[in-house]
This record gives sequence, C-alpha cells and structure tokens, in this order.
Amino acid sequence: MNQQLSERINNMATSATLAMAAKARELRAEGKDIIGLSLGEPDFNTPDFIKDAAIQAVNDNYNSYTPVDGYVELKEAIIKKFKRDNNLTYTLPQIVVSNGAKQSLANLAGVLINKGDEVILPCPYWVSYSDIVKLSEGVPVEVKTTIETDFKMTPEQLEAAITPKTKMIWSSSPCNPSGSLYSKEELTALSKVILKHNNIYVISDEIYEHINYTGKPHASMAQVEGMFDRTVTVNGVSKAFAMTGWRIGYIGAPDWIARACNKMQGQVTSGANCIAQRATITALNESPSKVQYMIDEFKVRRDLVLDLLKDIDGFETNVPEGAFYVFPNVSAFFGKTIRGKSIHNATDLSLFLLEEALVATVTGDAFGAPDCLRISYAASQEQIKEAIKRIKEALD
Ligand code: PMP
Ligand code: GLU
Repeated sequence: MNQQLSERINNMATSATLAMAAKARELRAEGKDIIGLSLGEPDFNTPDFIKDAAIQAVNDNYNSYTPVDGYVELKEAIIKKFKRDNNLTYTLPQIVVSNGAKQSLANLAGVLINKGDEVILPCPYWVSYSDIVKLSEGVPVEVKTTIETDFKMTPEQLEAAITPKTKMIWSSSPCNPSGSLYSKEELTALSKVILKHNNIYVISDEIYEHINYTGKPHASMAQVEGMFDRTVTVNGVSKAFAMTGWRIGYIGAPDWIARACNKMQGQVTSGANCIAQRATITALNESPSKVQYMIDEFKVRRDLVLDLLKDIDGFETNVPEGAFYVFPNVSAFFGKTIRGKSIHNATDLSLFLLEEALVATVTGDAFGAPDCLRISYAASQEQIKEAIKRIKEALD
C-alpha cells in the first residue's frame, strides 16, 4: 500500500531529547553501560505527599471526564500559587490545565498563530518550540545569543528581530538549555521594546521557576508593568515536583486566549488525567519549601559538573543560575579527529561521546545553538563523576 503521510509530519523534526533518551535505552537493552545525561527529567521519586493524594483520589472514585480546562479546585490552587509565588492575580477563566506544559504550548500555537506569523525564539531555546511553531504554520525567527551575554537576548537584538509579521516571543526562564535566568530589570528592558509594538505577545515558559540557585525571587514577565495582558505564563509540575510522567501543565493567560485553548483542548484531548489533577492540587497547595531538598541537591550537582568540566580543555561554560543543565560551547573540537572519528559539529561530538564514552548528551543543534552541547545533571553525583571522567578520557 502507498503510505502517504502528511507534509506536516514529514517536515517535523523528531524531538532530539526524546530521541537521545530512546537511543540510550536501546543501547542499555543491548547490555551497554550508558550514563544518560540527555533527558531533562528529575531522577527523584514524586514526593510521598503527592503520591498519597493520588491514591486517595483513586479510592474516592475520581474516574470521570474532568472539566476540559481542569477541576475548579485545581484551577483555584493554581490561582493561589500564582499569587503566592509570582504575585500575579489570575481569575478562573484565565487558567487552563493541560497534559503537560508541552500541550499548553501546542494549544497556544494552535490558537494564536496564523500561516506566516513570525515567532521570535531567543537561542538557545527549548527543543520543541521551533517544531510546535512550524506545526501551526508559523515561522520561527531565531535570535542568536552567546555565552558573553549569558545566553540572554538583549533589547537591541529583540528590536532588530521585530517585523510587521511578529506575533509572539517564546522563551523560558530559567532557560532550558542554558540555565540562564532573566532578572526583573532585564525583563523590564525587553518589555519597553515589546510595548512599543501593538499585538506582540510573550509566551513565558516558567516551568523551571523553583529550580533557581540565586536565592533571589523568580521574575515573571507578566509582573512587569504593562505586560500582564500581553503575556501567557506557562508552568507545570514536571520539574520541581518530579512529576514528568503525570503530565500536568497549565497556563495563566488573558481570558480570550484561555477560552480558545479550552475550545482547542475540548476537540483534541478532553483535558488532563483526573488522578494526576487531584494529586496536583495537593502539590500546588503546599509550600514550595517542601521540595527544596531536590533543588538543594541540584545545586550541589551543578557545582560539581562545573568543577569537573574545568578539567576538560574545550568546554566553555556559563554559570547556569537555574534548571538542571549545563550548555558548554564545544566548538574547540570542531575540525578535529579523535580516535579516528572526525568531529565536524556538536552532533558528531554528541555521537562520539555516546559511542566512545557511553555518555548520552544532546547536540546544541536541537536548541538552535550548533556550537554547544547540553548536559543534564538530573543524575546522581556518582553518575555525574563517572560520566565526566569517561568524557575526559575519551577526549584526551
Ligand atoms: N518547557 C520546557 C522549557 C521544558 O524543559 C519542558 C520539559 N519537558 C517543557 C516545557 C514541557 O514539560 P511537560 O510537558 O513535561 O510539562
Ligand atoms: N524537557 C525535557 C528535556 O528537555 C524532557 C524531554 C522533552 O519533553 O522533550 O529534556
């Protein structure tokens, strides 16, 4: 039979993070001792108080379809969380709960982008932004940043990227993959450019909000004067609560956008899983201090990785202030031949490290930064030490 897939799917790249994780799993199944530093997934278990809430929900017979945009109690918990952690005042019609922040982002692209609309993506950006935008026939406009500005977009760069077709800016802070964090002052400077133009919106992905090592409060774009009605705040429980597989993400948005996401979701998924929603009510109603032990451990690991990488010539890093990734510039290796293998780019280096050091990383290409390599430190200290030892040996 002639198998004719759509151009849409044929033109879509496979998620590089998930592909690398699958490849590592495959090699492990063949008996290879792969250390996975590719996937951004906390290696902690979901905390017991959240698991207990899920068990209770099962026993209380939560088994029906939920409201498409989420249980009212969950939306109330999200509203409380936005007020408590971000000083943002949302109302019930402004909240939509989805199957992970990834679906929140896909909904937003689906309801906001018309064919040819431009979406500014400060690079490096999270792997799926570009393909989610393209799926809705939008045009990703990459704004390259470098280690010199801590991988942050400047107001001048933003101004230069804006055209009459610009619809939105998508970015994450803390950033996956660079770990960079925009301060309130930096967001304010960017907002001055945005507010000069009508109808440019910001999708502010704050899923790593709590994984912040600065000791300073997290800054949200929606807090900046004039930006509340121009911003969609995206968040979720995957990262800070170690709940990746539970698939709960959410948005706080202008109500016309939230209503449209609700409509979209009503035709596509009918909303998120009922048990995971009940568990998330418990997670969000607790103080974030309850999960601080994970963040403290991530900070120790960040320092460990940075310290160990100093011993490898050719890995130039910023100091990530949040999330759980380091994103070294590895272009010093390009053009070299190591162990008989030619390294032309970061993809070659990532494959070399997988084959020769048995360590899985992700090429910076997937994040719009082809000179870099992403290393996730959501792994134990022992694994991190062993992985970096192997990387050093392979490259020496
Ligand atoms: N945004 C960023 C920046 C991420 O790193 C992730 C990681 N999965 C997501 C969104 C999606 O998260 P989830 O769908 O698990 O809520
Ligand atoms: N966000 C994680 C990462 O960047 C999980 C993988 C994914 O959702 O693509 O590795």
